[in-house]
Order: sequence, then C-alpha cells, then structure tokens
Amino acid sequence: MYKFAFSPEVALSPSCDDIRVAVVSYLLGRHLDGALMLRLSGALSLEVIEDEFLETLRWLGIEFDSIVREVERLYYYREVAISLVGIGKAYRCFCVDEGFKVLPRCASGCGLLPSYESERRAEGGEPFAIRLRVGEGSVMLRDVLLGDVVVNNDTVGDFIILYPDGSPSFGFASSVDDMEFAVTHVVRESSQVEWAMEEYLVACALDRVPPVFCHLPPVEYKKGEAFVDSVLSGNIVPEALFDYVARQVFSLEIGKALSKETLIKYASFEGIKVKGGMFDMYELERLNREHLKVMSESRFLELVESHCGCSLTQREKTVIYEQRETLSGMDDACKRIRRMRDSLEGI
Ligand SMILES: [Zn+2]
Repeated sequence: MYKFAFSPEVALSPSCDDIRVAVVSYLLGRHLDGALMLRLSGALSLEVIEDEFLETLRWLGIEFDSIVREVERLYYYREVAISLVGIGKAYRCFCVDEGFKVLPRCASGCGLLPSYESERRAEGGEPFAIRLRVGEGSVMLRDVLLGDVVVNNDTVGDFIILYPDGSPSFGFASSVDDMEFAVTHVVRESSQVEWAMEEYLVACALDRVPPVFCHLPPVEYKKGEAFVDSVLSGNIVPEALFDYVARQVFSLEIGKALSKETLIKYASFEGIKVKGGMFDMYELERLNREHLKVMSESRFLELVESHCGCSLTQREKTVIYEQRETLSGMDDACKRIRRMRDSLEGI
C-alpha cells in the first residue's frame, strides 16, 4: 500500500510551492491507488492557519485520507527522543541560554558527558535540547528524481531533534510520523533536501526504513506571484490552477484543459520534468479560459454564484453561461451580472 505524506513547513498562507507539492502528492498517490496523509507541523496546527490552509486545499479539490497534527503528538516525540538518549544515539545538550535559545552546534562537548552526569543535570532542572549523535561519514539519500545523493554528515552535524521547550524539530517529527504511519513516499521542493537528510538519519538511528523522497525542481516566480492569494486575483477557477501546477511538474499535452481524472491517469514519476521553469501567469489565464469553455453548466453556475455571493435568476444563468467563452474569469462574470442588473433597474 502506497502512502504519500504532504507536510508543509511554513506557517503562512499557502504558497504556490505548497500547492504544487500537494497537487503532485495527490496525483501520484491517486494514480498508484494509494493514500494521502496531511501532516500539520506545530505552527500550522494553529486553528486559523489550519483553516486557511485546508480551505485552499479543499477549494482545489484535494481531499486527504488522514490528518496528523504535530501538536497532538508532542508526548510521543519526547518519548522517542528520550529513548534515543537511553540507547546512546542522541544526547542532552546543555548549551542553552537564558532565553531558551540553542546554539547551532554544541559548544561544550555535551555528547561526551557520562550518562549519570547528564541525568543529574537534567533532574536538577537545567534546560537542555536533545541532539542526534550523527558522527562522521556520509549518508546516501535515495531520491526518485535526483538519484542517489551523497551528503557528508558534517554538513548537518549533531542536529537538534527536541528543543528545550519540548517541541520537536520539523525533520525529527516528520520522520517519526512517517515511520509511525507507514508513509512510503514524500514529495518536496528541492530546496528542502536538508530535511530529508535529517529524516534519513533519524530513521537510521531508529533502525527503520525511511520513505522514498521525490524533490521537485524549483520554479521561479516574479515578484508577488509566490503566494496563492496573489495569483488567484478573483478570476482563476480551481480546475485551472490545479491543471496549471500539474503541468509545471509533469510533461503533458499543451493546449486543451485537462480534468483531475485525466491528470491522475497521466501522473507518474517517469513523467516528471527535470526542470521547473518560470511561473507563467499568462499561461494560467489561458488555461483558465479553456476550463471555462469545457466546464459543465451546473459546475460553472455553482462557481459563479459562489464567487458573486448571490443566487442568479434563470435569465441571468442562461445569459452568463452563453457568454462563458468570452469571460476572462469569475470576477468578469460577476461584473457582467452586475451590469445586467443595473441596466434592468434603469428601464
Ligand atoms: Zn552542548
């Protein structure tokens, strides 16, 4: 059974990169008849951010089979981190300042402290972080797209898995959850390859097999295009954005609008493009018009009514549906309906 995990890292409204990773995870997961898990890291579990995130994903038509919230599992990450200390694969680092801040690297050789000394200091109330004992050498990451990536252990060093306030690092919590929930594949941005390195090392420390990683090539954005809110600008329909971000990743036929079902059929690891390219707003708008042309009447009217925030009369429905091939998008549809109503009032 395949299981894909979508685990966004940042605590802002969804970026176009987040959406792309979510769409690709969804398409590959459904293509392979697998499941899709959403993992919400600490900051994303805040209600308002979670709502915004989920609403955007739902609007796009991405459903998850399960949702794991880091904030509900803090006890478990602590337990695993402490168990790694117990078997000598991690250690307490007391290099913590008064503000509970930790240094990037241990500065006092805490990894060499005898365990009774480390325990005595912890029991005495001294704040500490827990670091994974990485050691020397290198690890080889298996990535579907990048191939075998060899990374020197020294580039990450003995990284923190648990902070002094008891919260886990993103890489540690992701890795623990991936293993706990039998995740087989993780799709990410290529800029996040360092997380995979940490996750791989955590899996090795726990004698478990890490998931297969797939780091997507980067996409470049012009100013103001990196976040979903700014790209949508009221005109784009979800089908078009979904189709567009899928085409950024998979080699697909250019031209006509492709439905979610068709995209699921054609999604495959082999079909992923090697280069990411530029985000192209004109192409997104072109696809938007293509989707408006082929959309069913009921779906089209549902989107228009929801976008305009009102019910349409039968005449308005007929007229706006007839005009759909000349519309630039939803804002345009609402403007025309307003104009129709104004001209009726003027009679
Ligand atoms: Zn230290």
